[in-house]
Amino acid sequence: MLADIYPWQMNIWQQWQVLLQQDRLHHAILLAAPEGSGRIALAGRLAKTVLCRTSNEEPCHQCHSCKLFDAGNHPDLHQARPESEGKQISVDAVRQANHYAWETSQLGGKRVILIDGAELMGEAAANALLKTLEEPPSSCQFILLTAAIDHLLPTVVSRCNKWKAELPDENVAKRWVESALFESVPLQTIRLHRGAPLAAKAFIENGGTAKHAKLVEAFCTFVEKKQGLFTVSELLVKSERSGLNWISFLLLDAMKIQQGSDTGIVHSDMGDLLRLLATNLA
Ligand SMILES: [Zn+2]
Repeated sequence: MLADIYPWQMNIWQQWQVLLQQDRLHHAILLAAPEGSGRIALAGRLAKTVLCRTSNEEPCHQCHSCKLFDAGNHPDLHQARPESEGKQISVDAVRQANHYAWETSQLGGKRVILIDGAELMGEAAANALLKTLEEPPSSCQFILLTAAIDHLLPTVVSRCNKWKAELPDENVAKRWVESALFESVPLQTIRLHRGAPLAAKAFIENGGTAKHAKLVEAFCTFVEKKQGLFTVSELLVKSERSGLNWISFLLLDAMKIQQGSDTGIVHSDMGDLLRLLATNLA
């Protein structure tokens, strides 16, 4: 797991460091952060620091614990996540995490349980976790990551110390992606990912730009000429959930243009096309 944090996470990290130094970090940290914001790296830094045997404010990168962490096989780090994309975190996965929480640390320090995508726990799984959060074992640090805090059981939320991750300003995010990929990036790519820089970067690396452009073009042709519905549905199926998001952003953008507003337009680099779409939808 990565433990190098990103510039936009410094503020939250420094606050955690103060709590770590004072030994006041809550036993269950709940971080609300969108996917693709670098949340795993931030959680990784926290986990590595909690587990480090020589420092309590920054991983030393030298001790046995830090080396095991970097090698990806730390015996005191346990992660619970869905078995595959789109699935829930099973009650068995949470029971396993609970069992692990009560075991003694193998390196004689703390144990860390990381739940990535905590909103994906079903009710039974969340209730199983709740019992452990209510009577937490000593020397066990929970880190819960979620993109949707409202989808968590309120009783679970109330047992955690809540944090909201900050995202960089969209122009800062754009420059960060540009310098990571050595290419210019349209602002709409950042907006399509609600400002999450790593999500925008992955989109470009995985050929998302061309897929998005094709779907937008096919959709606009369909609206204008009432032709090509099959192509639209085929592209939607290929792009899975993202495609539906793109179309909903596109329709919202067109509605804003119809109302004469240009605030919050996602497809900011497709002005002509949006105006045409807005006219054809009227
Ligand atoms: Zn260390």
